[in-house]
Amino acid sequence: MSLTRRDFLKGAGTGAGLAAAVDLAPAEVAAQELKTKGAKEVPSICYYCAVGCGIVASVADGKVVAIQGDPAHPINRGALCSKAQAYIQVLDHPQRLTKALYRAPGAGEWQEKPLDWAMAEIAQRIRSTRDATFKEAEDGVTVNRTEAIAALGSAIIANEECYLLTKLMRGLGVVWLEHQARI
Ligand code: SF4
Repeated sequence: MSLTRRDFLKGAGTGAGLAAAVDLAPAEVAAQELKTKGAKEVPSICYYCAVGCGIVASVADGKVVAIQGDPAHPINRGALCSKAQAYIQVLDHPQRLTKALYRAPGAGEWQEKPLDWAMAEIAQRIRSTRDATFKEAEDGVTVNRTEAIAALGSAIIANEECYLLTKLMRGLGVVWLEHQARI
């Protein structure tokens, strides 16, 4: 299509001249194919610090494709600090640790173990330690506790996680509950 300068100026008022001069098709196609298109929005909590800001993760094909602040969350109301803005780089980073290092009692070498193995091993050891040391009574007084296990909280767990951790520990009879910030 040929377009004179006069034609362009005549149509510029309505945008028709600009549209005729510039092919918008590629930009329109790109705009329709946002990476969040068709993604499922999953609400979650930022784990970086104890503020506990709400995030919304867009998940497509089992992969997080975008992260934004949750506008409905009462703490951050949609805002995220720079750490959380970079969150998505951490999820699939090649240097992210995905295995546990384990050194058996008396061994000099560390072995790589799957995280599932580590979780099962920790659970088993907590259970056996608790069962071996649980006291129902002391000096004639009911205590129902173990003094062989301590729980150390974290600045990056949210209120709900703190609640669950405390419930779990109290249920096991653990009386030593502490927080990293007080040490
Ligand atoms: S977004 Fe920033 S301030 Fe909020 S919890 Fe994450 S690290 Fe903390």
